[in-house]
Amino acid sequence: MKLTIASGKGGTGKTTVSVNLASYLADKGKMVVLSDLDVEEPNSKLFLKTKLLNEKDFHKMVPKWERENCTFCGECGTNCSFNAIIALPSEILVFPELCHSCYACSELCPTNSLPMIPRKIGTIKEYETQNFNFIEGRLDIGEEMAVPLINGVIKYTQDRYPDSFMIFDAPPGTSCPVIEASKDSDFVFLITESTPFGLNDLKLAVETMRVLKKDFGVIINRYGIGDDSVEKYCKNEKIPVISKILNDKEIAKIYSSGELVYPKIEHFKNSIDEIANFVEKLK
Ligand code: SF4
Ligand code: SF4
Repeated sequence: MKLTIASGKGGTGKTTVSVNLASYLADKGKMVVLSDLDVEEPNSKLFLKTKLLNEKDFHKMVPKWERENCTFCGECGTNCSFNAIIALPSEILVFPELCHSCYACSELCPTNSLPMIPRKIGTIKEYETQNFNFIEGRLDIGEEMAVPLINGVIKYTQDRYPDSFMIFDAPPGTSCPVIEASKDSDFVFLITESTPFGLNDLKLAVETMRVLKKDFGVIINRYGIGDDSVEKYCKNEKIPVISKILNDKEIAKIYSSGELVYPKIEHFKNSIDEIANFVEKLK
């Protein structure tokens, strides 16, 4: 079972739900692995007591220009759809940060002047916590391509823990990184708030999930603030609302001190229990 926890925007409580759900399911006896796919700004680890088990560099393949046989025909610049390579009359410029590793320039170069070489773009770290395993991807500063690393973290998770219950904490938004984090999951939880801003971002996230043809449901966080527009929207669109997590300053206090919330707040624990029960029925 693979679950993705996503949201249309940051700051909706996605990581709080991910970390607490992972620990709660582990307390119930499940083998759980949580992977933080927000590789540009991973923060799940802040809420966990971790011990490092493994660390490895992550690379993507990029072209390296070799001048010797280049005829400056310009084909490489024409064939790159991502403006990652520019062919000048006497120089070929490669911008590895923009490269999507599609191999087109390399394979179509008539003189084999663009061999593909590995370039480090980030790290993958694997930890154990008090009751589940945790994997984090972290993009190097200055790197722009999150998708290859997100894909690498998912693959690492599946290879290392094929029999575990996998929870993926997705990056916020509705663009390529969240699509990559959701496309192979069995179910996606969309976390939102019951405000007009929350509704706007939820609608975008719902459109994305529908294009991906994913099963998904909504968790309303900070329930009690704002209005009932999110609930009305979900009802009209026949989207299941899995749980409503009450707005409570104590949650923010516990969260900001880097601790798990469900052992300390009963109504939050009840919400996590609702989500866990829903997950049980997905099988
Ligand atoms: S396609 Fe190959 S030969 Fe042509 S300009 Fe690019 S690197 Fe040079
Ligand atoms: S591998 Fe693809 S994306 Fe990268 S520079 Fe070549 S054509 Fe462009």
